[in-house]
Amino acid sequence: MTVMIAGGGIAGLTLALSLHRDGVPCRVYESTPEISALGVGINLLPHATRLLCELGLEDALARESVTTAESVFYNRFGQFIYREPLGRFAGYQWPQFSIHRGYLQRILYDAVVARLGRESVRLGWQCTGGTDNGPDVTAQFIDTATGQPRPAQHGAVLVGCDGVHSAVRKQLYPDEGKPRYSGVNMWRGVALWDRFLSGASFARIGWLATGKLVVYPIAGNADGTGRQLVNWVAELDTPRHNLRDWTREGRLTDFIGAFAEMRFDWLDVPALLRATEQVLEYPMVDQDPLDRWSFGRITLLGDAAHPMVPRGSNGAGQAMLDAKAFAECYAADPDPVAALARYDDLRRPPTSQVVLANRTNPPDAILREVYERTGDKPFRDIGDVLSPAELGALSDGYKRVAGYSKEALGAGGGPG
Ligand SMILES: Cc1cc2nc3c(=O)[nH]c(=O)nc-3n(C[C@H](O)[C@H](O)[C@H](O)COP(=O)(O)OP(=O)(O)OC[C@H]3O[C@@H](n4cnc5c(N)ncnc54)[C@H](O)[C@@H]3O)c2cc1C
Repeated sequence: MTVMIAGGGIAGLTLALSLHRDGVPCRVYESTPEISALGVGINLLPHATRLLCELGLEDALARESVTTAESVFYNRFGQFIYREPLGRFAGYQWPQFSIHRGYLQRILYDAVVARLGRESVRLGWQCTGGTDNGPDVTAQFIDTATGQPRPAQHGAVLVGCDGVHSAVRKQLYPDEGKPRYSGVNMWRGVALWDRFLSGASFARIGWLATGKLVVYPIAGNADGTGRQLVNWVAELDTPRHNLRDWTREGRLTDFIGAFAEMRFDWLDVPALLRATEQVLEYPMVDQDPLDRWSFGRITLLGDAAHPMVPRGSNGAGQAMLDAKAFAECYAADPDPVAALARYDDLRRPPTSQVVLANRTNPPDAILREVYERTGDKPFRDIGDVLSPAELGALSDGYKRVAGYSKEALGAGGGPG
């Protein structure tokens, strides 16, 4: 019997490919009527690209992304703090990709259609909930465009891959509180821009109290003149925030003042921000980890299961690890209820740790330490502020929690 997947985002489509590879029939029900390039940049770290490479998507991803070479940290005065190589450049067996979320979703969607057939993804089907009947599940849907009910669907299990506003999660946890605001607001955008640093650098600059910028290219030679599509995220401590909505328009004037002085010889930040056609605004929110995802034949996966603040490039990656674990548990166990319980046992504890680590010590904690230890002043020598061992420990600690340390992925970053 079919696995019903509510949501054809990054998690739902990766799950469909993983189930198909493991010989399990499935169908995706996606609420949007068409797959279009929504969002901005996303990073795929080696634990995620390992799975995508195993699914045969490496070439497609490499063509439409930037193979990220290094992570670099600067304070707001443009002083260099720390650099480390990433992906294969760091000795992993798999690359790190920086990619437009829309391109990633389209690559996954095209692969699902090519391998499972067009009928395997139903667009414009918005899931409103599921009923566990014991021997199977009935899922309810409406037509997204008209709001009219669609025919009920039957399957062996229902997996809620329906993102941060998950209807399946709401059904399982009707009284859950509001998302938890971290106190940081984000503005995001992409602009055509000249190559900076290595041309494949993931840069973090400044700190949240005065304005932090994350900036990295997501597509090379985007306009035929050598310029790249460059993704940026401006993050700033802000007491008030709007409700979370991935497509909310933001205003440059609300935050550009904090970045006005960030003019470096390798990047003119205010000019980059001004060159951006569309600015999006999103509050940095998450939700407390849940005690349980799987209830009989219904479960949660990806953002629906563990919405997290995007401070460690791990939202998409953890969703992919969920998909792999779900497919393996499901293919291995003839009892779907036991398979869903096993998947819950395997994935809930580690993803809960990532949610909590993103609140306290994500990789940008390096910038917090520099900000606090220098009292937000320029330093004479970074060695006076943080030792190389401390810098490395801050970075490696997060890799261990998020499951992409070289040890976790096997010796030398190879298969583990
Ligand atoms: C429009 C959009 C833009 C985004 N932009 C960014 C970005 O710029 N940077 C970033 O880091 N992350 C972004 N994200 C989030 C990112 O994709 C996820 O954090 C991560 O990849 C995990 O994927 P997911 O599939 O769990 O969630 P999502 O990628 O959010 O996918 C959820 C999917 O479920 C669909 N859906 C929602 N409700 C229902 C329902 N009731 N029934 C059926 N389908 C439903 C949604 O349309 C969506 O396709 C964006 C998400 C969306 C939806």
